[in-house]
Amino acid sequence: MRVLVTGGAGYIGGTAAAILLERGFDVTVLDDCSTGHLEAVDSRATFINGSILDNATVAKALQGVEAVLHFSAKSLVGESVTKPEIYWNTNVNGARILLDEMRTAGIKKIVFSSTAATYGEPKEIPITENSETKPTNPYGASKLAVDYMLTSEAIAHEIAAISLRYFNVAGALKSSSGWLAERHDPETHLIPNILRASDTAPLKVFGSDWPTQDGTCIRDYIHVVDLIEAHILALGAATAGSHQIINLGSGGGYSVREVITATEKVLGRQVPAEFVERRAGDPAVLIADITKAESILGWKPSQNIEDMVRDTWDSFQ
Ligand code: UDP
Repeated sequence: MRVLVTGGAGYIGGTAAAILLERGFDVTVLDDCSTGHLEAVDSRATFINGSILDNATVAKALQGVEAVLHFSAKSLVGESVTKPEIYWNTNVNGARILLDEMRTAGIKKIVFSSTAATYGEPKEIPITENSETKPTNPYGASKLAVDYMLTSEAIAHEIAAISLRYFNVAGALKSSSGWLAERHDPETHLIPNILRASDTAPLKVFGSDWPTQDGTCIRDYIHVVDLIEAHILALGAATAGSHQIINLGSGGGYSVREVITATEKVLGRQVPAEFVERRAGDPAVLIADITKAESILGWKPSQNIEDMVRDTWDSFQ
């Protein structure tokens, strides 16, 4: 079975392509390498270097494909606030064009990379798929718009669709072409920033007065390999005429302090850190309820926070 991986030159899409190929799937990657990296594209995949916003390119990428994993998107919360038009265009129009071309080609299965940012500031913890969706930035809003798009199109056009709402994705995969890991410039994510902290540039911990046990924010971290495993299961679980929304996290949370402690254990040394002001837009606690992923996909995460830290560290070496 051939699967189209949009965004397959990125961290998560590249990991998906590599794992699919290892499992015997044929893979086409569509990516314009605007934020992805050409070297991240697995050499065994058919690579279409082009934009999700170009109908002819998308139609070409869909040739011979039976299902789509749609990762291609802009995903920086801060940038989405200052340049929302890019988010509405790439994320929403990109999905729009993809679904149009899938319909023309008669392809009826899609697994979509959605996000916990669709929920916004949670009123309840853990967050279930029935929790209120009230995104607090254009990134989350654009992903929620695509979730709505999929719900209506699944019903109207007998599409089998699953949206997977990611919490904090971390870790890395060593594939046959090398490490696939997060590479952002500037880096904003906690684990890479902890690993890069030094005496001259200590980690900045955003806030020490949050309403949590140790005063630092709590997030639900999930290893990228566990995340992709859920996508492969979703390909099997998606059913025609239905759009399911499923959270992907570990179902538990770690505070910033706890992630630092886990890192110190992995590295065998202390991590230099200093407390600074809270970061704008950060909720205190985000934890996924993952019972739906367990019941519908038969999925459970298998890697813990130390695995995520260790793999990220190894990918840096
Ligand atoms: N964080 C931090 N210092 C950093 C980066 C992140 O204290 O250099 C905190 C951040 O405030 C949040 C948590 O770590 O509470 C996870 O942040 P990240 O940016 O990794 O993911 P987010 O939850 O924002 O998607």
